[in-house]
This record gives sequence, C-alpha cells and structure tokens, in this order.
Amino acid sequence: MKRKWVYFLSDNLNIKDTDKLKGILGGKGAGLYFLARMGLPVPPAFIISTSACQYYLRNKKFPKGLLEEVYLGIKYLEKRTGKRFGNKDNPLLISVRSGAKFSMPGMMDTILNLGINDEVVKGIIRKTNNPDFAYDIYKRFIEIFSDVIFGIKREEFWKISVDDKEKTIEKYKELFYERAKKEFPQDPYECLKMAIEGVFNSWNNPRAKEYRKIYQIPEDLGTAVNIQAMVFGNWNERSGTGVLFTRNVKNGENKIYGEFLFQAQGEDLVAGHVTPLPLEVLKDKMPEIYSKLERYVKKLERKLKDVQDVEFTIEDGKLYFLQTRAAKRTPLAAVKIACDMVKEKLLTKEEAIMRISGEDIDYFLHPTFDPNYPLEIITKGKPASPGCAVGEIVLSAEKAIEIAKQNRKVILVRDFTKADDVAGMAKAEGFVTTTGGETSHAAVVARGMGKPCIVGCSEIDIDFENKILKIKDIILKEGDKISINGATGEIIKGEVPLIKSEFPEELKLLLSWAEKIAKMKVRANADTPIDAENAKKMGANGIGLARTEHMFFAKERIKYVQLMILAKDEKERKDILSKLLPFQKNDFKELFRVMNGLPVTIRTLDPPLHEFLPPKEKTEAINELAKELNIDKQVLIRKIEELEEHNPMMGLRGCRLGIIYPEITEMQIRAIFEAACEVKQEGIKVNLEIMVPLVSILEEFLFQKEIVENISKEVFREKGVKLDYKIGTMMETPRACLIAKELAKYADFFSYGTNDLTQFVFGFSRDDSPKFLVPYQQRKIINFEPFKTIDEKGVGSLILDSVLEAKRINKNIKIGICGEHGGDEKSILFARKIGMDYVSCSPYRVPKALLAAAQAEIILKKKKITQITTK
Ligand code: PEP
Ligand code: MG
Repeated sequence: MKRKWVYFLSDNLNIKDTDKLKGILGGKGAGLYFLARMGLPVPPAFIISTSACQYYLRNKKFPKGLLEEVYLGIKYLEKRTGKRFGNKDNPLLISVRSGAKFSMPGMMDTILNLGINDEVVKGIIRKTNNPDFAYDIYKRFIEIFSDVIFGIKREEFWKISVDDKEKTIEKYKELFYERAKKEFPQDPYECLKMAIEGVFNSWNNPRAKEYRKIYQIPEDLGTAVNIQAMVFGNWNERSGTGVLFTRNVKNGENKIYGEFLFQAQGEDLVAGHVTPLPLEVLKDKMPEIYSKLERYVKKLERKLKDVQDVEFTIEDGKLYFLQTRAAKRTPLAAVKIACDMVKEKLLTKEEAIMRISGEDIDYFLHPTFDPNYPLEIITKGKPASPGCAVGEIVLSAEKAIEIAKQNRKVILVRDFTKADDVAGMAKAEGFVTTTGGETSHAAVVARGMGKPCIVGCSEIDIDFENKILKIKDIILKEGDKISINGATGEIIKGEVPLIKSEFPEELKLLLSWAEKIAKMKVRANADTPIDAENAKKMGANGIGLARTEHMFFAKERIKYVQLMILAKDEKERKDILSKLLPFQKNDFKELFRVMNGLPVTIRTLDPPLHEFLPPKEKTEAINELAKELNIDKQVLIRKIEELEEHNPMMGLRGCRLGIIYPEITEMQIRAIFEAACEVKQEGIKVNLEIMVPLVSILEEFLFQKEIVENISKEVFREKGVKLDYKIGTMMETPRACLIAKELAKYADFFSYGTNDLTQFVFGFSRDDSPKFLVPYQQRKIINFEPFKTIDEKGVGSLILDSVLEAKRINKNIKIGICGEHGGDEKSILFARKIGMDYVSCSPYRVPKALLAAAQAEIILKKKKITQITTK
C-alpha cells in the first residue's frame, strides 16, 4: 500500500488514542484536528506527518510522493479559501509550522506569511488598500525566512530603520543579498519546499536538542509540519491575536484568562518583546467575540479533559483558532486542577494522579521566604510563576551556566528570553524579565520547570554593556544578590532567608488517593527520632531502614564509639558498649513511639570502623581526639593504621563486624529489645524488624540470627514481656542474590540494598564512579545513572531471579528496596512489576514515591500486567 505522508483536517482518522494521534500529527497538528472536528472555526490546514520528518532526517531527502501530496494539500487550501497560492490578484498566504509529539515551545522553527513576493505584495495592497499591512507582512516574511533558512539573524534586520515601508523592503533585500549572495527567493513553491526542509532540520537545532535532554524527549520522534492558510491579526483595528488559558495556570482557579494584542501576529505575543493587554479588553471592545471565545474554549476543555492553552486570531472581526494544547502549569495549579477536575467529574482519581509529577511535588518541598524577615522591595513585576528564590544576578544564559557550575545560585535577569536561553534557564533558580506578559517565553518555560518567574518589570533598566541594573535610583551589579517571589512579583534586595513550605490541601488529598491506589507500601529511611517524625508527616508507612551507625555520630556518643574501637580487649569493649546501650535504647524507644504499630526496620552496625576515627593525615584532628579521649596519640595512630584497608567497602563492615565482634551485635540487639518491651508496657504497638547487613554467606546470617534469638529471649525473661518480631537480611551482595533460595528459608524478609548491590554488580565504586560515569554518559556508553535508577538489565535481572527463587521457598517472605533507588520513579515501577511489597527512601522523597507507586499501579493496570512471576 502507498504510504501516506499528508493528512487533511477534514480527514476522518478514526484514531481514539490521543497519544497515537499526536505521534502522527504532532501535538499542534492533533490540536488543530480536534478543533476542526469539534466544528470550531479553524483556518484550513493540512499536516505533514512526523514519519516524513523521520525519513528526511535519516536519508537527507524527502520521501517519494511527499511533494505531490503537499501540492494536493495546497490545492485543498485554495479550494477552501477561494484564494490562489502565488497568484498576485487573490493570493493565498500560508504558515508552515513545526509541531512535535511533545510540546517544545519555541524550540523549533516556524515560517509565517509564506507565499508573498514582490508581485504578491502589490496585489495585497490593491486588494486591501492598506500598504502598511501588506509591507508589514512582507517584512516579517523576509525576516523569518532569512533567519530560518539562511541563518541571517532577525536582529540584523531590526537594525535597519527607514520610515518608508516600501524602502524598508528594499533595504531588507539588500541585506539579504549581501549576506546570502543571491536575490531573495520569489517562487512561492520553491520557498515552500525550503520551508518544509527548514522545519524538518530545526528538529536538530542545538536548543531543541538541549530541550529534549532536559525533558527526556526521545531523539528519534521528529516533528510534523502544519501548513495552514494564514489569517491576519495585523490586518486592521478589528484584528488582533491572543493566547488564553482555560483556567489560571498559576494558581489553578477555574476562570479563563489570557492576553491580547490588537493589530499583531501571534509571534509578537509569544516572543515577549511587547507587553500585551489582559484578555478582558475584548469584553469591552468585542463582546460578542469574547463570549463566543469563552463558550468555545470551555467546550474544548471538557472534550479534551485538560486545561488548554489556546492561540487565536481575530481577522477583521472574525474569530479563528490556531492552536490548542494542554497548558503548561505551575505545580500549584497542577494539583488544584487535578483535584477540581475530579470534583467536576471530568477526571477519575486515577487520571488525576497521572496528571501530576514527582517534580510538582518537589516544588512544595521548596522553601518560601521567612515571614519574619523585613523585605526591602526594590521593584515589582507581573507574577508569572510562583515560588521564592535567592541568587546572584546574571544577565545572560551563558553566565548562568558558568556561575552555576561553581555551585553558586543565580537569578537570570533579561529583557526577554528566547529559546536559545533554555540551557542557562535550567541552571538558574528563577527568572526576571523587563518586558513580556504571562504568555511570554520566560513565563512558559518557568512554569514548565517549576521555577519562580517575574515578567514585565518595566522599572528595571538593564545596561548590558556595563553589566548593571538601574531601578529608579538603585544600581545593582551582575553578581549582587537578589531575592524574588514569583507569586507576588516582588524583587527584593539581598538574600532573604528561606523556610520550608507547606503542602496545599489538594496535594494532601491527591496523596491520600495515591495511598489507596498503590499496592506497594512506602516506608522511609530514618535513623533518628526527628527523621522518624518527619517521615510520618510525609506519609511514610513505617521505617524501612534505620541505620544505627547514624545514632553513633551524635556528640555525646561518638566518644564511646571511639573508645570502644580502641578497647584493648573484649572485656573493655563490652564495658564501653554498655555505656552506649542507653543512648541506642532511648532512640529506639522514640522510633517505636513515633511509628506506633507501623514497621520499624532496624539494621545492625554496617560501616567500616575507620569511619568513626579521623584519617591518618589529619594530624590536628588526631591530636585533639587523643586529648579528648585522654589516650596516647601513638596508640590512636596505630589503631587508625590497623583499621586501614585497601578496599574498605569490601572489607570489615556489615555483618562481618558483628561476627568478629559479636558483643557489638549483642549490645544493639539488647538495646532494641529492651526498648521494644518497655514501650510495649507503655501501650505502644511495636512492629519490629531486625535486619542484618551485607550478608553473602548463609552462615553469616544464621550467626547473627542466633544472637538475636538468644538476646531477645533473655530480655523477654527479664522484662516479663514478649513480642513478635521479624528478622531479615539485606540483599546487597551478588552472592546473597545467588543464594536467595537458601536465605529465604531462614529470613522473614529481604531488603535490597541497591546502593551496594549496584556497586558490586557493576564493580563501580558508589563514591568515586561519577568521575567516569559522567563521561560514560557523554560518550553514550551508558544512558542512565545506575546509582539513581535501577539497572533493569543487570542488577534488576539478578533481583528478579532472587525474588522468584525466594518466593518459591517462602511464599510469605516480605520484599522491599531500601537503597536510594527506593525513591526513584522508574525503579519504583520496576519494584512493583516484580511484586515487591514496599520501597523505602529518605523522608522527603516519600510523597514522590507514594505518587510513583500509585502511578505504577495505574500503568500496569492499563497494560494489563499484574506482576512478573516468571523470567
Ligand atoms: C544499600 O547499600 O543500598 C543500603 C541501603 O545500605 P547503605 O547505603 O547504608 O550501604
Ligand atoms: Mg549497603
């Protein structure tokens, strides 16, 4: 069958899956298609599919048959508009616009007003009797076409200043000739071919590539090309162009709002060079159009079940829609809209949960200004994206990258931003622009990135040459600190202290739905009572890992730990351990009290002992410590040397410590059970799990398990209390995974320590590997961060095999992850797929993990997968 490259808006495509439709027509094309199918006024258009672009990018030529289909498309536009392409008396002008499956605002190229030339412009003057309008169009076309196709920057044309419009065109063409060494093209069909190629090629321009990297958009999707009859917002005073959102994308309020410019084309609004008027002006000036607009866009939102970002143009009093797409919104708006749409029965709870992302949640963990700090507000702009940020002023995207590399925080201040600035914007804490409105590039990007942004700060005068900002009589230099509040538009001199913000009610509600939907539980890695409180507040379903060594580092304890390490024999060691016991016991009691009934997984001592002493070369620290502990300096140095290992991560650590020094495990286990029994007597529910680290031999586990059994019995006897508990092992060495079958006979649970497991499976040091993993990623040796996202192929495969083996032997065995991967979205989906019971991550990652666990459930349900049970 002949391949089809071009689709008309009037085609009935019969594709139910929006995602699939966007894959073919691109987001913009799909939006146009929906608008047309709903009977809304759309200028006629046809769309070149993304697959034609993919073909072009692979083969550096158009696919066979594409141009023939494009010419048929032009005929279709001519028929629908009654105009002729290239005809000077009744000319059809068209736009050639990019549009990928995933929205990449402003990243690729678009050409407007194509079809105009020296003859056609005269025809337009004759027809409209409006030379200003006709020359304005031609001027715009020369600028955009020269920029996109010939690389002659638009800014170069803007330097030409001639009052006479006709003469401006002459000057423009002269500049073109000078730079391109040929006449400005006059054949509209030639221009069309070049424009299509230009849009295809813009898929690979550096800013688009950078954007795809930031937003993880696949490289091979390509863009569609939308070819549409032009309508003119710059025609006369009954014309204009606008952008509107069907709800407020800053705070989620259910009210349309937007911006409008009379006698302008859409690009004027999006570029942000001019400050637009609020949409309400239309209510006064064109009330009928305003109410029509309101009615249409609400209908559109109901049909597409999401907030829409709509571009429209009014040509001589007639309304046209040019684009609709899901609106980029702030995290605040995202959660409110998701909740409201459930209440309005537009979305199910599951759909609402899929509408928010981990990054949205991150935003609420970001700080706000300390309300007690007096603010020295120097100026105010339009609040375009909420949040508070503090940083040094930088005046260019390049500078933002340079300074941020030194781990310094920056606020990018510009007159307006453009697509090339996105890499620098990604490095800044927030943005300020002196011009533009809420639909400007800076505002859209900020909302997409969840960063604070203030636009239209007209009081700021940027002197780029001297790198200073003048605000009335205040002068600030590049490098000076400012603070910005994207919710109020306030710019404050200096550094305002930041404090943690609260979760909005809507987010709490969404997370409560997530908790109900998720089958997998989310616990927290919490070592201290404060951590545990925080974990509980964040919604953790227990503690999945309490690293007991972290309790050792507190001021009054570390001394005993150090003395214990320095003890000359077992007796002395036991003596000192008995002094540590009350500290540990009290901490455990607090953990049990906070978690009251939820699981508390306590791991016995794990790190190599040298971590508790200063390194050999730190003489000053050694002298100080010797003095503090009242011991001979040489004894201390000898001990440090004795503990030195070539490969400490593979050395005397984990359960090996508890086997060489069983008294350490004995003390810890005694502290745990004494604490558990005592709080149980207070009426607290204890759900205790004891975990043995770094097991690779069954006998290691059994050795430690025996200590637990003996000590627990002793304590039960002493306290006259009994309680149930579980004992399990960490799975963090490859050998533990390989003998899962044996371990599962004796362990109540497995907790995968994916930090160490990744280290040992790859043979990559978890501390030093960034040195080569970063260049590895640049050289495409590896395309993910293995210490962040689980390596499904290698580490994951070992985990899956061991889980399946373990479950065969012990069907009640509980399985979880407590490495860093437990808070990573993709790893959580993997954990759910292989049937894990829980993940455990640091307290602040709990809400994100909860969302990911619910999303995993929804994704698997959609794919009709319950769980992987065989390999
Ligand atoms: C792990 O190795 O994944 C783990 C949780 O233990 P730690 O990070 O304490 O070594
Ligand atoms: Mg570990």
